[in-house]
Amino acid sequence: MSDSFENAVNVLTQAKKAVALTGAGISVESGIPPFRGKGGLWEKIDPMKYAHIDAFLEDPKTVWDVLIKNMKTVLDKAHPNAAHTGLADLEQLGILQTVITQNVDGLHQRAGNRDVIEFHGSFARMHCQSCDWAIETAQVDLSEIPPRCGCGGFLRPDCIFFGELIPHEALFRSQQVSAACDVMLVIGTSATVQPAASMPFIARDNGAVVIEINPEPTSLTQRISHLPLMGAAGTILPRLVGTIRQRLATP
Ligand code: NAD
Ligand code: ZN
Repeated sequence: MSDSFENAVNVLTQAKKAVALTGAGISVESGIPPFRGKGGLWEKIDPMKYAHIDAFLEDPKTVWDVLIKNMKTVLDKAHPNAAHTGLADLEQLGILQTVITQNVDGLHQRAGNRDVIEFHGSFARMHCQSCDWAIETAQVDLSEIPPRCGCGGFLRPDCIFFGELIPHEALFRSQQVSAACDVMLVIGTSATVQPAASMPFIARDNGAVVIEINPEPTSLTQRISHLPLMGAAGTILPRLVGTIRQRLATP
């Protein structure tokens, strides 16, 4: 076992208010492709063309056809994987306090984490772009694309498009918990999307140990990660939890 792994076990075993920042990579093993990197959605479509608010306002039908309908099909089939469960276990053990996720898939809540900040919103709900009327995504009638609200406006997911602001409460709470945590676990994020990517910097500046789990190096790996663990989250997290459990059971 690597020194980083051993050190990560030691640090987490002592931790009382760890925070996890997760990105699309933690859900790859649930069958949800990331945006960037190998097999990523951006290899197939241009984000500025389909995931920008201006694109939706100009041509909601195309954005629904190319992006939103596909996301719904993929998310409908997904279940939490061993990495999501590992984070729920860390909460149960009294080590992890909060998950800040850039994902919109709801898998952390389904795995059992109770304090999840959805930094970019959620795909589980939709609202009307014109009047804000809201509905569960599962209840949306897809016989007409784009689906419409009773007022005539178009429905859209509760997640933010490029060009839109992070919900104020999510940003504020994320900054607070990042500044107060003793360990920050950065899992499956390329750390390129701001302001989510600034959370590990806030944590480190306030004295937290930064543990990064990713099969590829990121912009954080050399610059601020104290303990980089290279590999798939679905392999590393259960291994970490198993070793921590043994450690806690041995007086
Ligand atoms: P990203 O697509 O930019 O990067 C994904 C990262 O995950 C990469 O660094 C990659 O090396 C890593 N990765 C791949 N497989 C992994 C694995 N098995 N274990 C751990 N890491 C793995 O993702 P991002 O940084 O989250 O930014 C993309 C944006 O797209 C986010 O803002 C998010 O809102 C959105 N998004 C969400 C979902 C989802 O809800 N599941 C899916 C795609 C994109
Ligand atoms: Zn409406």
